[in-house]
Amino acid sequence: MLLLTGGIAFVAAAFLLIEWQSLRERFLLSFAAGFLSITVGCSLAPLRETGSFVLGIWLSNSMLPLAHLCFLHATASFSGRRLARSWCLVPLGCSILMALPGMGDQALSLFNAAAVALLSIAAARLLLGNQRKPNRSETRMLVCTFLFHGGFYALKATCAFAPGAFVDLSRYAGTMIPISLFEGVLVAVALAMSIASALRRRREDHATRLAESDALTGLLNRRGFERRADRQLARPSDGGALLLIDIDHFKTVNDCFGHQEGDRLLVALGEYLRARSPVGAIVGRLGGDEFAVMLPRLDEARALQFAQDLCAGFGQRVGPGNCGTLSIGCATFGAGPGDWSDLHLQADRGLYVAKSGGRNRAGITRLHANGPESASSFLFPLAANG
Ligand code: GH3
Ligand code: MG
Repeated sequence: MLLLTGGIAFVAAAFLLIEWQSLRERFLLSFAAGFLSITVGCSLAPLRETGSFVLGIWLSNSMLPLAHLCFLHATASFSGRRLARSWCLVPLGCSILMALPGMGDQALSLFNAAAVALLSIAAARLLLGNQRKPNRSETRMLVCTFLFHGGFYALKATCAFAPGAFVDLSRYAGTMIPISLFEGVLVAVALAMSIASALRRRREDHATRLAESDALTGLLNRRGFERRADRQLARPSDGGALLLIDIDHFKTVNDCFGHQEGDRLLVALGEYLRARSPVGAIVGRLGGDEFAVMLPRLDEARALQFAQDLCAGFGQRVGPGNCGTLSIGCATFGAGPGDWSDLHLQADRGLYVAKSGGRNRAGITRLHANGPESASSFLFPLAANG
């Protein structure tokens, strides 16, 4: 069993090092260092049969808390956090206590198990505490493994002094030894699988984020926006509004001031929309100079007011040579499940109304049972309201 634990830890370390060579993620190195420490510990353990306390018992057992410190460090690095240096005191303190003269096997096992339990539970807490909701599934298995392992070692620590139940370290005998080795095999396999799974999920999420974001503005692109809009329309809600936002005469900006200046205007509009949109709004660039904002829980009047404020604010502050006002098409959706294509079409009609009504304003088309009735709202400038 000892051989098996050491072998699995070695294979896990090799696998993580190979992954690190291509991915260069530092947490992989720390996990690999942890597994290598376990391999060294397992390799040294048989030396206790030769009577070597230092190598066979003290150093071999010290490797386990050290391995778990590496795992905790890896977890912190994976979560984008810095690990406090004081955590190094846990394996260090454990090794010092184990080296004190007169310590029996039970005391050695208690220090060792308590250190492993503490470090494992700290790793699970770090993963649980740090995460934004979408990332939780990525590390669920890792958290469960650390919690199980930490719980097992806490139990092991509490029954260290149970009469007859425990260990004879020098002969490597006692009830707890095979149970602990068996648990070690399970945890080594589970940890290696959890890390591989977390890594795969993270890479998938990264690829999805890339595929769904607009390279120029950093907003959602059409694919990302539509996916979120679909989700919003499918769930029961209080309704809301969609704004389609288009820069007026954007081609002229490109022609007169150059493509780079045009790009700058697009980026400025992206930042402007992100900054002005309320919490919970979905903001994206659908393509070219067309942007969209979905506003959950906003009724028609408030959505039009918001659109008017966007027109007014953008006209005042952005755009080279005062070019680049905005036209906005508005459409609302109700509480029931809605259809993105219908909503988009309706907002597009509103945009057409705003453009044909003179630009630099918001337009809306209300659908009635007997067909679409165009109602252009000349919200900006206010004098032209109609
Ligand atoms: P309108 O008032 O009718 O909206 O006029 P417009 O000039 O804005 O019309 P149109 O939508 O046809 O022009 C969009 C232009 O946006 C055409 C295209 O060259 C330009 N464009 C599309 N993508 C980009 C981009 O990423 N950067 C820049 N600088 N220009 C882009
Ligand atoms: Mg345009």
